[in-house]
Amino acid sequence: MSSGTLAYAPIPVVKMRSLGTESMPVETNQKTVSGSDKIMRQENKDINILIVDDDPSVREIMHEFVEFSGYRSYKAEDAAAALKLLENNSIQIVVTDITMPGMDGLELTDLIKKDYDAYVIVMTGFNYDHTYEEAVGKGASDFITKPVRFTELLLRIKRVLKERQMNRERNSMLMLLFGMMKELKKLAITDGLTGLYNSRHFYKQIESEVERSCRYINPLSLIMLDIDYFKQYNDTYLHVKGDKVLMRIGRLIKQSLRSMDSAYRYGGEEFTIILPETKGDEAQAVADRVRTMISSEIFTPEPGKEVSITISAGVTQYCPGETLKAFVQRSDEALFMSKDKGRNTVTFLNGKQISSVDITC
Ligand SMILES: [Mg+2]
Repeated sequence: MSSGTLAYAPIPVVKMRSLGTESMPVETNQKTVSGSDKIMRQENKDINILIVDDDPSVREIMHEFVEFSGYRSYKAEDAAAALKLLENNSIQIVVTDITMPGMDGLELTDLIKKDYDAYVIVMTGFNYDHTYEEAVGKGASDFITKPVRFTELLLRIKRVLKERQMNRERNSMLMLLFGMMKELKKLAITDGLTGLYNSRHFYKQIESEVERSCRYINPLSLIMLDIDYFKQYNDTYLHVKGDKVLMRIGRLIKQSLRSMDSAYRYGGEEFTIILPETKGDEAQAVADRVRTMISSEIFTPEPGKEVSITISAGVTQYCPGETLKAFVQRSDEALFMSKDKGRNTVTFLNGKQISSVDITC
């Protein structure tokens, strides 16, 4: 379509009414605007449509038609002006001519799809070389040929808006599913009471930490700890109060660890802590810090009743070549030694003392 030629075919149901200097397309048989039309137009007002065409007559008449249809319309004479409007306004649909001086409509579509959340309908004349595939390849949602018929333009705008709505619904559904999956994944590895990781996750993690320790020849230590006389506490103050102790101790353990360490509720009142890149004596110091912190806490299972709680801990360092089972068992052994010593204590057990594997840790 050459510049200056009106780019619109005769429209059977729409004719142009001259309003002074303005031209307004109106439906021939429609004298008044119905109630449902009013509602639809009100909804359309939230949709911003940008018309881009270098032909002023085409641009103006389309702008008026879009406004008449109830949408908010913006207009631009070239791609640069269009990009400026996109930058400063929330535009949902761009209807752009392809053949324009400077940047053409396909390049503009390409930029819009990269930088903005707008859908694009491209327009071109019958005789142009641009194909539907070319336009879609650049990310256009629809393609309309000149001369543009208003009824067709309106249908295509509505179709693109429907596509936009469906994409938004699909995206929010995906976000919801993604969030649910993340939550489920977290729940599967978390102990519901303490918020620490659970024992299933402990075995998965300790296995990968042992592998990592062997691969990078880094020390790896393990702490196993148990609340002293917890059965007695539960029997005296009932399980609800016991659960509160577990929750608080879980929090205290978590607070005393570095970000690379991880804590687990191993069993009823038993906890484990994996300390990557940590030697046994350093892990022993961590265990003692946790022990001191917990023993200085005051628990009040009943009003006016203040109780102290202690823990016993076993610490060991992984010996390269030993089995995972031997490693975990040794920390358990060290824990029992602490219990034997009278509780509220930390025992470090060197691998060579009970392991048959003769490798220096
Ligand atoms: Mg043009």
